[in-house]
Amino acid sequence: MKVLVVNAGSSSIKYQVVDMTDESVLAVGLVDRVGIPGSTLEHKPLGKDAVVIKKDLPDHTAGMELVLEVLVNPEYGVVKDMDEIGAAGHRVVHGGESFADSVVIDDAVAKVIRECFDIAPLHNPPNLMGIEACQKLMPNVKHVAVFDTAFHQTMEPQNYMYALPYEAYEKYRIRRYGFHGTSHFYVSHRAAELLGKPYEECKIITLHLGNGASMAAIKNGKVVETSMGFTPLEGLVMGTRSGDIDPAIVFFLMEKLGMDSAEANNYFNKKSGMLGLSGVSNDLRDVEEAAKAGNARAQIALKVYYNAIQGYIGNYFAKLNGCDCLVFTAGVGENGISMRENICANLEALGIKMDVEKNKVRGKEVDVAADDSKVRIFVIPTNEELVIARDTYRLTK
Ligand code: ADP
Repeated sequence: MKVLVVNAGSSSIKYQVVDMTDESVLAVGLVDRVGIPGSTLEHKPLGKDAVVIKKDLPDHTAGMELVLEVLVNPEYGVVKDMDEIGAAGHRVVHGGESFADSVVIDDAVAKVIRECFDIAPLHNPPNLMGIEACQKLMPNVKHVAVFDTAFHQTMEPQNYMYALPYEAYEKYRIRRYGFHGTSHFYVSHRAAELLGKPYEECKIITLHLGNGASMAAIKNGKVVETSMGFTPLEGLVMGTRSGDIDPAIVFFLMEKLGMDSAEANNYFNKKSGMLGLSGVSNDLRDVEEAAKAGNARAQIALKVYYNAIQGYIGNYFAKLNGCDCLVFTAGVGENGISMRENICANLEALGIKMDVEKNKVRGKEVDVAADDSKVRIFVIPTNEELVIARDTYRLTK
């Protein structure tokens, strides 16, 4: 069976076609600037050159229509007709407290995704637009939702409740949800395989460090805690997000800068983090380069970044009562050699000892711990699309 994997954002649609007989990826593609003049589709079939198509696409339905056209194109398509695609799997950011697993989408599921618009206003509406466009164009197959929040639903109240008046939880659903769950799920399972231990017996700390970044503490197959919270703003220092701060700073700056809530949202989500602190860029590579060239703000920004992560490593060590391995993944985690080295420096007391020579690697699955390190340190490239394809297959085959 072949599965279409769809990740619909506000102005983009990413897709893959995965052949589940051997999990090979037959095509990957990206529709960009959906609803904005100058839309493009870039499609890369397995073993062939990429093609770029320019065509104005007013909405997600038009974008998906073009994707389906491309998939059956005699020259660069990957299926003869759409009947070869047995199911579609959709990334959905927020499933609230309703879903601890992926699920076949019906009216009730779509209703819950819609009910989460309020708590995930930037993500769930385009995710649902992608689903509805796909359902319209592929009415004969099942569609599966794979939620970023689902894996974290094993957290217990002491790990997900905030110390606010209880009605904030009851009335407004304010609690820690956590995100990047599909990635934490994938790399933690791979880590257990590399450890050669049953997943249900492992203590794992995963570090998903991309432009957005989060960590998770996983024990006996369950997420104990994760660093993103009610929204992806909480936790680590990110490309443009502040991560943890004193919440009083928000009221203080709203008053000083005359910001309304939308402006404050933008300030802490888009203007802060490495970009705000360094004044250089949200891209870690640029900040590292500036730091090397002597830029003092960039140097401080990097130290703040490491400091936040080391704090969470200590926190999660305590909550897991020890740890078998750290796992670095996503853009920075997979490629940031000096980043990983600096994060792991001075953690010997926890039994974390890196082999700096082995650590000189990018984008490969490898153990970079010293032979005598008590804790393994894995670099594992994430593969969220594969998890979506596998879940879709599992639920529809
Ligand atoms: P997202 O999916 O959250 O947008 P990615 O997982 O693609 O992010 O990660 C993007 C980040 O990866 C960029 O900010 C970039 O700084 C970082 N990155 C990529 N390559 C390197 C590298 N060689 N060294 C350090 N950081 C890197």
